[in-house]
Amino acid sequence: IQGTLANIHAQDGDIKAFLRTDDERALEKAAQVDKDGINPQDVLSGLPVAIKDNIVTKGLITTAASKILDNFKPIYDATVVQKLNDAKMITIGKTNLDEFAMGSSTETSAYQMTSNPWDHTKVPGGSSGGSAAAVAAGFVPAALGTDTGGSIRQPAAFNGIVGMKPTYGRVSRWGAIAFASSLDQIGTLTRGVYDNALLLNAISGLDTKDSTSSGNPVPDFTANLNGDIKGMKIAMPKEYLQEGVQPEVKAAILKAADTLRSLGATIDEVSLPHTQYAVPTYYIIASSEASSNLQRYDGIRYGYRAKDVKTLEDVYVKSRSEGFGDEVKRRIMLGTFSLSAGYYDAYFKKAAQVRTLIKQDFDDILKDHDLIMGPTTPTPAFGIGEKVSDPVTMYMNDILTISANLAGNPSASIPAGFVDGLPIGMQLIGKPFAENTIYRAGFAFE
Ligand code: GLN
Repeated sequence: IQGTLANIHAQDGDIKAFLRTDDERALEKAAQVDKDGINPQDVLSGLPVAIKDNIVTKGLITTAASKILDNFKPIYDATVVQKLNDAKMITIGKTNLDEFAMGSSTETSAYQMTSNPWDHTKVPGGSSGGSAAAVAAGFVPAALGTDTGGSIRQPAAFNGIVGMKPTYGRVSRWGAIAFASSLDQIGTLTRGVYDNALLLNAISGLDTKDSTSSGNPVPDFTANLNGDIKGMKIAMPKEYLQEGVQPEVKAAILKAADTLRSLGATIDEVSLPHTQYAVPTYYIIASSEASSNLQRYDGIRYGYRAKDVKTLEDVYVKSRSEGFGDEVKRRIMLGTFSLSAGYYDAYFKKAAQVRTLIKQDFDDILKDHDLIMGPTTPTPAFGIGEKVSDPVTMYMNDILTISANLAGNPSASIPAGFVDGLPIGMQLIGKPFAENTIYRAGFAFE
């Protein structure tokens, strides 16, 4: 742990993956592990883990990379943080993200810009860009992120690591700062598949504090990671390899399919006909839920409060105007509009209906397939500053990942080679609660 902290302090000035580290407590906990000795069952005992800064940590500032939560010190630990403590992992620090997890490049953070460790002129992806960069840079073996529309898988792909968005309900959201509650899910970022399965073992399971958390039994995700995928049926949707996907990325994914075939899987071309509606559907639903969730930042209860205000109305308006960044305001306006009387039927209700069709596409294909595969992103990491002023281009970057959030299915990104010297990812989508199938295929492939 001393070495981990020293390494971060020496090298993170170039990457800026961390918003803050928790040196004193990390060292105390490490000393305690030394004292107690390591129980062989506690495989994660003493290992450092980084936490995305939209997951609350007791007594340690948590900002969601927003000025509106500047200096916010939570009074409790998120369930996932509690579970990592129980597993005797050492929470080393909090990682950078897009403000309130809204973005695909970590550039909307109110605090700092994170670089991709593979090429410092490129973005690390987002919104869990800090967590992914911290793992890729070798600072920590594991990190937690959140994924509302791709925010674990896309940065995992851009950083050449493994990122898992579990089934909606698999992991408690208690203590995850809400963005879009029907889509948000906490998940795991690690260098390899086996480590990822170990970390998911530690954070999964029913939590009565989150009413959407599932009581579905949690298997040992490391079981059956033996390289054997003979007879596995994998579907490859043609919509995931259409124009927009860079030809070299397509070639790498076709090569990945050959590898899976050589390991004994069969690959069928299929169609997910509603894929083209996923981006608009997602941005209406996610923004609507965000506009509702973000009402709590009113300058009164916690977080930033504007100075020199005379009326209550002024407290709300000035605190929110000064505390939120542009991308967050854009989502609040879009969401409030889609939910308002006269527009609700045309936008929010329609989006909710299309969401069901997208889910049915997955259900149909997964009736007779174990997995769906495709690229995680249409391109490798793009340049810092390249897309930040063009929200629609930025939103299109999520085209391949957001359907899994709309449907609730588990989905992971597994490293699948390099394009233009930068890593890319293969995305695997499974049946609900079948993370183990994704891990089996990912382990055999990597
Ligand atoms: N990039 C998507 C967005 O901006 C997804 C973000 C996420 O998964 N948190 O909404």
